[in-house]
Amino acid sequence: MRVMLLGCPGAGKGTQAKFITERYKIPQIATGDMLRAAVKAGSPLGLKAKSIMDSGKLIPDDVMIDLVKQRISQADCQAGFLLDGFPRTIPQAEALHKAGIGLDAVIEIAVEDTEIIKRLSGRRIHPGSGRTYHVIFNPPKDPDFDDFTNEPLIQREDDREDTIRKRLAIYHQQTQPLLDYYKNWMPSAWDEQPPQYIKVNGNDDIANICQQIFAELDKAKNKPKLKAAEDTKQSPIN
Ligand code: AMP
Repeated sequence: MRVMLLGCPGAGKGTQAKFITERYKIPQIATGDMLRAAVKAGSPLGLKAKSIMDSGKLIPDDVMIDLVKQRISQADCQAGFLLDGFPRTIPQAEALHKAGIGLDAVIEIAVEDTEIIKRLSGRRIHPGSGRTYHVIFNPPKDPDFDDFTNEPLIQREDDREDTIRKRLAIYHQQTQPLLDYYKNWMPSAWDEQPPQYIKVNGNDDIANICQQIFAELDKAKNKPKLKAAEDTKQSPIN
């Protein structure tokens, strides 16, 4: 099962990703997390990525395409994967397509900008564990400190309000065109199966969103495959 999550930063992709990967036993490929790990490790990619990420801008397409292709070629992705945060631009989507990496389903989690600003600007992180809190929706017992270690919490640079606004503007400009790209996918004789397009309301209750996604993904999973789609899956990477 090859699934992709689409939605603006803060829409709840990471939350739903956890449920989906557990149920369908597929690894999560979260490009934002991969980049943050590279920054933390101080690798050449991390050094290059840090200032771009802090400013809310996007990493160049060629860098991201190589990173994701490499990840998908690993053994644990053979039976499928969940893409979270990639593709984020039309060239990234086209690179996937050209590499013969088809998708069974694309899930859009829709949330308005005003709600996103409220959600992200209140988010706090415990850097050691990655635990997240929210000053209003999920506050720590002691404000600004982790419940388990009592270590200080931080606000991600890119969760500051002015950066969130920039990230949303970039999302609307560069990522939103992907909604139509996947919705209007036209199969052709040599093409892979069009992905099932699933849209959920990201303001809904977390458990309800999850149930809707599971119901739709079960349908996508049981849908008969085109022969061409099966063939492309034999050799996903060029
Ligand atoms: P995220 O955690 O998915 O919101 O990603 C955090 C940041 O990582 C983004 O604001 C970008 O700077 C960078 N990033 C993550 N995925 C991509 C991608 N597919 N293309 C370009 N930049 C990305």
